[in-house]
Amino acid sequence: MQAIFSIDAQGYWDGLQAGQLRVQRCAACGRLRHYPRPLCPACHSFEVEWVALAGHGTVHSWTRPHQSALPGFAEQVPFTLVTVDMAEGVRVLGRLDDADPSALRPGAAVTMTIAPAPSGQLQPVFRLTDRR
Ligand SMILES: [Zn+2]
Repeated sequence: MQAIFSIDAQGYWDGLQAGQLRVQRCAACGRLRHYPRPLCPACHSFEVEWVALAGHGTVHSWTRPHQSALPGFAEQVPFTLVTVDMAEGVRVLGRLDDADPSALRPGAAVTMTIAPAPSGQLQPVFRLTDRR
């Protein structure tokens, strides 16, 4: 059975290798979207281009897993995962690079970098902007 749609996320992975978080932008109407999807939710166009986000956003929410079955992560629990509303208007999931998440608040400013996960896979990592 063949898939009707294929999700081309290569631009996302290429961006991480280049130290950027890239998201899809509809080439027809300009709307940004994340995670990668085959067609634009606004105008249904399949035409897409990839754009890099500047790396600034605010905390939407967070969670702290205390168990993990994933190789490399079990030794690092608990850690903090945050959902971030990026300045460009898309929401992104990433890890918080901070052992003490007590300063987290909804709306707190964060800055993103790209860093390797325990598995070695590059991923978005966030740091509270106001904390030195
Ligand atoms: Zn569109």
